[in-house]
Amino acid sequence: METPEPKSNFIREIIDADLASGKNGGRVHTRFPPEPNGYLHIGHAKSICLNSGLARDYKGKFNLRFDDTNPSKEEQEYVDSIIEDVKWLGGDFEDRLLFASDYFQQMYDLAMTLVKKGKAYVCDLSAEEMRNYRGSPMEPGKDSPFRNRSVEENADLFERMKNGEFPDGSRTLRAKIDMKHPNINLRDPAMYRILHAEHHRQGAKWCVYPMYDWAHGLEDSIEQITHSICTLEFADHRPLYDWFLNELGVYHPQQLEFARLNLSNTVLSKRKLLELVRDNHVSGWDDPRMPTISGFRRRGYTSSSIRAFCEEIGVAKFNSIIDIWVLENSIRGELNRTSPRAMAVLRPLKLVITNYPQDQVEEMETANHPDDAAAGTRKVPFCREIYVEQDDFKEVPPKKFFRLTPGQEVRLRSAYIIKCETVVKDASGNITEVHCTYDPATRGGNVPDGRKIKGTIHWVSARHALPAQVRLYDALFTKRNPDDVEEGHDYKENMNPASLEVINSAFCEPALKNAAAGAHFQFERLGYFFADPKDSKPGAPVFNRTVTLKDTWAKIEQKDPAAK
Ligand code: ATP
Ligand code: MG
Repeated sequence: METPEPKSNFIREIIDADLASGKNGGRVHTRFPPEPNGYLHIGHAKSICLNSGLARDYKGKFNLRFDDTNPSKEEQEYVDSIIEDVKWLGGDFEDRLLFASDYFQQMYDLAMTLVKKGKAYVCDLSAEEMRNYRGSPMEPGKDSPFRNRSVEENADLFERMKNGEFPDGSRTLRAKIDMKHPNINLRDPAMYRILHAEHHRQGAKWCVYPMYDWAHGLEDSIEQITHSICTLEFADHRPLYDWFLNELGVYHPQQLEFARLNLSNTVLSKRKLLELVRDNHVSGWDDPRMPTISGFRRRGYTSSSIRAFCEEIGVAKFNSIIDIWVLENSIRGELNRTSPRAMAVLRPLKLVITNYPQDQVEEMETANHPDDAAAGTRKVPFCREIYVEQDDFKEVPPKKFFRLTPGQEVRLRSAYIIKCETVVKDASGNITEVHCTYDPATRGGNVPDGRKIKGTIHWVSARHALPAQVRLYDALFTKRNPDDVEEGHDYKENMNPASLEVINSAFCEPALKNAAAGAHFQFERLGYFFADPKDSKPGAPVFNRTVTLKDTWAKIEQKDPAAK
């Protein structure tokens, strides 16, 4: 599927106005600035689609910039996964793979400029003291006793901080703004802290590390970003972003804030996702239940479906929770158009066609796609013993049960009309086989005399069946907002104990023997499945259910009005 036409939004309106007024010389330059401290999730996808989409549509540029200013939590593994995910989503950063850590020297020099202007000072308060001096939104803060150090002393101390002369946490460099400012972010915020840590790119070169608010605007400025788009929480930080750039008199990008994506029945906090991985609540960052890009990819989502989703939900200025079925719909529609059909039986029940010749095998011709003749047909072997779904048989049928039940006729997809005759049970009364007869005049599932056959079921020839592992996924959390917990409780208590069901004894038609890892199928009547890219092997396929055939959420919400 093509990326859909972009909808207008307030950010596009601002860019249109900037272009009309000639601001930035007609340039549009955006960036995606992840911190490499986790894998990207669907919220990041929204930001990537927005930023790279603006660059694409306005013939501008898009940077991938790692905001790697916090060495203790950052790792190369995350850098690699982020690059892969951004590329997979179609975020085209060309040759602009950038790292904030490459600007450390420039940032240090600019900080020294502020020190020399008397706009920054070295403070010896501990973190706790700093917090106490800071005040609260209701009360003004108090000046640090170190606030009036001379420029010379500050320059000397800051340089020695950089040279590693002082222990971690003993000093900070702070902007000298106003300890009584109504916006707490402007009460002499820290710009640098001392940290003797190994950086994934810089090694042990640096003993001081820049704080986010100081670093971020500089990164944008150095890269000549025109529109620095971030999430709403940063609106209160914008005055500080502007203060730093104004004081330095450097190129000044415009910060714009939009509402972050929240998705129902999942969590999108990196801290929580890391916890789920680290404590083995899931199999890894790419567990198909995870809301990570790598999780969705492994589940069978395509990048076009995620882009379509991001376009569909739009860009707003207020926070909300998007229902997970909106995302499911975006992949379902696409897979319906693109997936070849196949037959698989997840919970097999043996069915014997007693009047079918013992050793006969017929090749039943069946369409690969009902709406797409170009997808062609394939031959599916049929013989006397087949597997059908346990659910498709009821000894005592409920009302309007049109599938297998004693005395009733049913159509085997692309094969024959069969009639259920008897049931075979073991000593403890469990059904082990169903015996049927077939009508040889109905080959291909046609009914020459026009008698009504209400049900059609899928099947797999027992002799030809290919064993498969099938994994069924459900939401990771039972609550729409998993963070909605009583005091003293934890979001993990809302985890769905049935989020994964592994079926080891499924059977699929033999044509899937060589299904390539990463291939999509619609298993008729069961949903859309994806050959697991890691675990699926020729002859031993493993299928992940990407999504069910129909929207199962609508039903849940109707039943449970509180779910909204
Ligand atoms: P943290 O900063 O707490 O580690 P984060 O999710 O903000 O977590 P970043 O790596 O800083 O992680 O995010 C990179 C970019 O993605 C930021 O510009 C941020 O605004 C954006 N982003 C993060 N989460 C979402 C979300 N849920 N919806 C939209 N954009 C998001
Ligand atoms: Mg962040």
